[in-house]
Amino acid sequence: MTIQVPPVGFVSAGTLEEAARLVSDPDDRAVLIAGGTDLVPKLKRHQAAPITLVSLANIEAMHGIAITDDGACVIGALTTLSEIASSPDVPTMLASAAATVASPQIRNSATIGGNLCVDTRCNYIDMPLTWRQARGHCLKDGGDTCWVAPASDRCWAISSTDLAPVVIALNASVRLVSSRGERVVTADSLYRSDGINYLTKTSDEILVDVTIPATTARTSFQKLRRRGSIDFALLSVACAVDVDSEGRCDTARIVVGGIASAPVSATDAEEFLVGKQLTPEVIDEASEIASKPVRAQDNTDTGQRYRKWMISVHVAKALTEAATERV
Ligand SMILES: Cc1cc2nc3c(=O)[nH]c(=O)nc-3n(C[C@H](O)[C@H](O)[C@H](O)COP(=O)(O)OP(=O)(O)OC[C@H]3O[C@@H](n4cnc5c(N)ncnc54)[C@H](O)[C@@H]3O)c2cc1C
Repeated sequence: MTIQVPPVGFVSAGTLEEAARLVSDPDDRAVLIAGGTDLVPKLKRHQAAPITLVSLANIEAMHGIAITDDGACVIGALTTLSEIASSPDVPTMLASAAATVASPQIRNSATIGGNLCVDTRCNYIDMPLTWRQARGHCLKDGGDTCWVAPASDRCWAISSTDLAPVVIALNASVRLVSSRGERVVTADSLYRSDGINYLTKTSDEILVDVTIPATTARTSFQKLRRRGSIDFALLSVACAVDVDSEGRCDTARIVVGGIASAPVSATDAEEFLVGKQLTPEVIDEASEIASKPVRAQDNTDTGQRYRKWMISVHVAKALTEAATERV
């Protein structure tokens, strides 16, 4: 059986202004497309029904990586994950996270902007249309029940972007442009814990670039998945710690992805670490604190108890690696 993309119009915008104009009216049902590695499979599964796709690919100003005078790294939204994975200019943690996404072929098309805006995932919504029709449509699919938590009135689909936890841990900001103007928001505030409306940006806003301030933090990215390549994360952890001259933690950021509808900042664990030496005992305690408030749902591969347990295992791995990173 061949699965085809339903008929859809396609316009390639030549400038940011043109793209912003093309998506300005929600009644036009025009949707942005960058590498298409998430959106095209969604179209095939009839999870989205835009009238027109507005391609950003030819907007030159949205490609590339630059370092500003104050050492910040500015990454155009159309920069591919392959370019990021091999760039000496981006923070090491971002390069290593980008290198874990999907496969080399997909990374050659996939962009950082698309990654940060990638749709949430779930065992129910990611099935083919005929399966979903037979089962009954879930909340994210236009139905009235979340099959993961039928008593709940919200959708629990999972945030699946690997790069969001990393840029949040690195205190990045993103620039959003629409025909109404421009705003800069912290990467953290781009996300909302709702499987359907998972972004705080509006549909007419284009993510133009990501700015990561210069940092002296020691970092580590850890990812749990069933296979060592291709698979989405069952769980990812990005951690950035600043350590003083005596080895005590000054600041810590620990962000967990793939476990809830938005990346989760382990703020209690971050606070616990401040002022402490990163000994194995302290790391173990911080890892337990990080996993405690998280309630994993039964909406992806492997059991929810296993995934919750794995949070502390992977936070401990990340902190241990960051503590011993050469800077
Ligand atoms: C087999 C497979 C494995 C995968 N594994 C992973 C994985 O391990 N980790 C992971 O994070 N992802 C994974 N992905 C998902 C996807 O490939 C990546 O997240 C990719 O970076 C998405 O980028 P894109 O440019 O292809 O986005 P697109 O598919 O073009 O767009 C994705 C979404 O973002 C929106 N969008 C795109 N660019 C912008 C912009 N500049 N401004 C505003 N909105 C925008 C689109 O409208 C769409 O809603 C996988 C996909 C496949 C098919």
